[in-house]
Amino acid sequence: MIDAMAKDPGRAAAHGPAAEAQDPDPVAEAWDALVATARRTVADGLVVGTSGNVSVRVGDLVLVTPSGVPYTRLTGDDVVAVDLQGRRVRGSLPPTSELPMHLAVYRSTAAGAVVHTHAVHATAVSTLVDELPPVHYMAAELGGPVRVAPYALYGTRELADHMLEALTDRSACLLRNHGTVAHGATLDQAYDRTAQLEWMCRVWLTASSHPTRTPSLLTSADLAEASRKLRTYGPRP
Ligand code: 13P
Ligand code: ZN
Repeated sequence: MIDAMAKDPGRAAAHGPAAEAQDPDPVAEAWDALVATARRTVADGLVVGTSGNVSVRVGDLVLVTPSGVPYTRLTGDDVVAVDLQGRRVRGSLPPTSELPMHLAVYRSTAAGAVVHTHAVHATAVSTLVDELPPVHYMAAELGGPVRVAPYALYGTRELADHMLEALTDRSACLLRNHGTVAHGATLDQAYDRTAQLEWMCRVWLTASSHPTRTPSLLTSADLAEASRKLRTYGPRP
């Protein structure tokens, strides 16, 4: 055994105590978190089948879900990574067709993660209004009333341009007749913003379906006040 290790130091490193002391691989860790987030969008009903996509930034790399592959099938060997120009630098599966949207967010914001879904209430709202009426203070968490980006074919540069415009000073938007996009510092934050947006769309649809009453709305002063308070919401790190 000792002889074998001497002939093959790599083998010794892989099996000896050094293996445990090895630094964690940030790409492998980020990929596992990305797959978990993508699976969560399906489990929580924000996505059906292979709809939607998720990405996370690791330095100059962007890890993305592959196009058209059920998230349950993804393993640690399926890492798909592109650079900020969209060139695939890791993996053999094709990157999501919405790569232009994901890259547009990373090129123009400090986002660490992006989540795109076809959540049902959000998609319904995207067909009705140009902006989600501010029925709840959680709109402040998304930067203000959420805009609807004009329709363009999925996976196009045109859709990415419309999305970027709708995201001005916002961390989320709706895509007309399509779904949601939200970004955040982390996968959890991008996911939570997506879930909050879907929930707010559901609240508005529920309230506005009343036969005689119309929902009361918050003012921009209400949202600004909520935004200030939300900065210190929750436990301190
Ligand atoms: P992908 O499977 O290519 O990610 O496409 C899903 C989608 O939502 C396109 O808008
Ligand atoms: Zn989509």
